[in-house]
Amino acid sequence: MNLINLEDEENKKIRSLLIGEPKNDITELEGLVKTLGYEICRSVILNRIEQNPVYGIGSGKAQEISALAKELEIEIIIFDFEISPRKQRNWEKLVKIPVIDRQEVILRIFASRAQTKEAVLQVQLAQLEYARPRLAHSYGDMARQRGGNFGSKGSGETQLELDSRKIREKIQQLKKQLAQVVRDRETQRKRREKIPLPSCALAGYTNAGKSSLLNALTGADVFVEDKLFATLDPTTRKLQLKSSIKTSENEKGFSTNILLTDTVGFISNLPHALVNAFKSTLEEAQRANLILLVLDSSDEKIESQYFTVTKVLEEIGAEKTPSLIILNKIDKLQDNPARMAKLSELFPDAVKISAKTHEGFENLSEQICEQLLGKEISCTIPFENQNLLNEVRKTGIITEEIWLDDAVHIKLKGGELKKNPRLAALIAPFTEGNINENSK
Ligand code: GDP
Ligand code: MG
Repeated sequence: MNLINLEDEENKKIRSLLIGEPKNDITELEGLVKTLGYEICRSVILNRIEQNPVYGIGSGKAQEISALAKELEIEIIIFDFEISPRKQRNWEKLVKIPVIDRQEVILRIFASRAQTKEAVLQVQLAQLEYARPRLAHSYGDMARQRGGNFGSKGSGETQLELDSRKIREKIQQLKKQLAQVVRDRETQRKRREKIPLPSCALAGYTNAGKSSLLNALTGADVFVEDKLFATLDPTTRKLQLKSSIKTSENEKGFSTNILLTDTVGFISNLPHALVNAFKSTLEEAQRANLILLVLDSSDEKIESQYFTVTKVLEEIGAEKTPSLIILNKIDKLQDNPARMAKLSELFPDAVKISAKTHEGFENLSEQICEQLLGKEISCTIPFENQNLLNEVRKTGIITEEIWLDDAVHIKLKGGELKKNPRLAALIAPFTEGNINENSK
């Protein structure tokens, strides 16, 4: 940690000025900009946005911001709301420094974090699609910075036209490469699906601790750092879970292997180009048997985190996938029982853990088992129904079998039974309580 801070002091940080509006909480943008490594010199909240066609805000206000930028020696202005390519050009003309918006901040973060081939291609594509309409409106040299360096030196409009054509070609080329990567991933997935292990996907707001949790649970070497978006690529690991459910073979309980996949962090208003670009990555969440929805319990805005994540899950069609809410970082709340109680009230079914201290891991493991395998179902099979008992035995879902004077008492993996409706119907008359209720 200290090393990083020292380095930061040496490498002068880019001085930024943030412009927000009252309806959006600027702290999210501040977090994103810090993640990029920029210094935030000032955040200005505009009280009233006049729809001036030149700057999107009143020109008097624009002049004020320009003067403030000069005074504070600002090197980049960042808007928390989208600005059109034309307005962006007008701003850059006025302030003579780069002016970007939230979307570009996110794109830059993704670009700096992309690690696998797929992520690199996805980010490049999203960046170019974002840059294309902006290129023609870029001011002077800033065209070059936007969307990378295309072609050699040239001048004025002709160069821009050339760049624009090159961007189009490059986009086509990237799309082709990406399609191949997606096909490869599909093949990998099919291979993985042949091994019938239940799968869990870690989903959650960026910085909630997903990668730390994957690391802590599996010892996997996933990139972890105290910044947003430390992970871009889905990383799948095999994880052994111990359950206290006892089987006839193992008195001490059995262990189950599951696949656990890390996903990209979810943030509110993810730029559309990125949602598209990361579709295949986000699909991991959609295809999972269980989504582990990780929340940072030390974050004051935990409810909006939760809201953001569920909204993105809906957008990718994963709203029906069962999920387990995990309240992470509870080590930070040791001295705050009031907040702990409040969280229990807000998320009564959540599992409280700390990826740092491993507190709550046992319970987490139990809960995952229960969600994936279903609750145990108890049945009492009369001796004369030996055939039924034999049939159940063949499926291997019996976790306990006790012969008593009155009948055979067995316990079954509820989740497995649910997958076999015929058997479930046969066994229903001998079940205590309702099967579906029990195995939900
Ligand atoms: P991700 O973006 O969801 O993958 O989050 P990371 O796993 O990269 O974690 C973000 C930051 O939170 C890192 O600095 C972690 O060290 C920290 N962190 C993660 N889990 C815990 C935890 O249980 N307790 C504490 N105190 N910090 C944590
Ligand atoms: Mg991560």
